[in-house]
Amino acid sequence: MSEKLALVTGASRGIGRAIALELAKCGYDLALNYAGNTEAAQKTLEDVKAHGVDAQIYKFDVSNMQEVEENISKIFEKFQRIDVLVNNAGITRDDLFIRMTQEKWEAVINTNLNSAFYVTKPVSKIMMKQRSGAIINTTSVVGLYGNAGQANYSAAKAGLIGFTKSLAKELGSRGIRVNAVAPGFIETDMTKDLPNIDEMLKLIPLKRLGTPEDIAKAVKFLALDAQYMTGQVLEVDGGMII
Ligand code: NAP
Repeated sequence: MSEKLALVTGASRGIGRAIALELAKCGYDLALNYAGNTEAAQKTLEDVKAHGVDAQIYKFDVSNMQEVEENISKIFEKFQRIDVLVNNAGITRDDLFIRMTQEKWEAVINTNLNSAFYVTKPVSKIMMKQRSGAIINTTSVVGLYGNAGQANYSAAKAGLIGFTKSLAKELGSRGIRVNAVAPGFIETDMTKDLPNIDEMLKLIPLKRLGTPEDIAKAVKFLALDAQYMTGQVLEVDGGMII
C-alpha cells in the first residue's frame, strides 16, 4: 500500500476515470466511486491497479447522504487516510428554463452540488485530523459564464465555485487546499450527443474538443504541484473563453 489515498467520485467513466489513472501513475492508492456501471468501474479498477497501486471500487449515489457517509467510513477503515478528494461525479438534464421540470432541476442540484456537501463533510474531518489534504471540485465553464438550456447545471456548477472559495478560506489553516477545475467541452459520454460540434469548434482557439486526459493533468497539478494555490478555478477549455 502507498502512503497516499485519493478518492475520486464518478471514476468509472470519462473525466473521473482519467483522473484516477493519472493519480495512480503518481503512486496514489485509489478509492473509486461510481453510480451503477459496474462493468466500467471494474475496468477502471484493473487499469488503475496495473500501475502497481492498491485500489477498490465503491458503488454509491453521491446525492444520498446516508450512502455517502457509510461509504466514506468504509474507505477510511480500509485505507486509514484520505489525501486527495476529487468531487467529479455529475449529470446533465438539459432543457430550456421555461420547460424545465422540478425533477430535472432537483436531480442536477442534488447530484452536482449537494453531493459536494455530503462527500466533503466527512472527508474534510479526516483531512483536518491529518492536517493536510487537497480537494478538487469539478465545475464547468458553464458555471462561470452560463449556458442557455442549462440553468440547473450552471446553477449547480456556479454553486461549486462559491463552495470552493469558502472552504479554501475555512480549511487553509489546517493545511487543506481547495480548488476547482472548470472544463470546457470534453469528449465523454456526457457530450457525445451534443449537436453543432462544428459550430463549437469555431469558438475554440485550439480547434479541438478537450480529452479527459487534458482535465486529469490539470487535476494532478492542483492536487500535487500547486502547493501555494487555494480557492482558485482553473479553466481548461482550449481557450474557448478568454
Ligand atoms: P460522464 O462520462 O457522463 O461520467 C459521469 C460519471 O459520474 C460516471 O462515472 C458515473 O457513474 C458518475 N455518476 C453519475 N451520477 C452519479 C451519482 N449519483 N453517484 C455517483 N456517481 C455518479 O461525465 P464526464 O463528462 O466525465 O463528467 C465528469 C464531471 O465533469 C461532471 O461533474 C461534469 O459535470 C464535469 N464536466 C464535464 C464536461 C464535459 O464536457 N464532459 C465539461 C465540464 C464539466 P456510472 O458510470 O456508474 O454511471
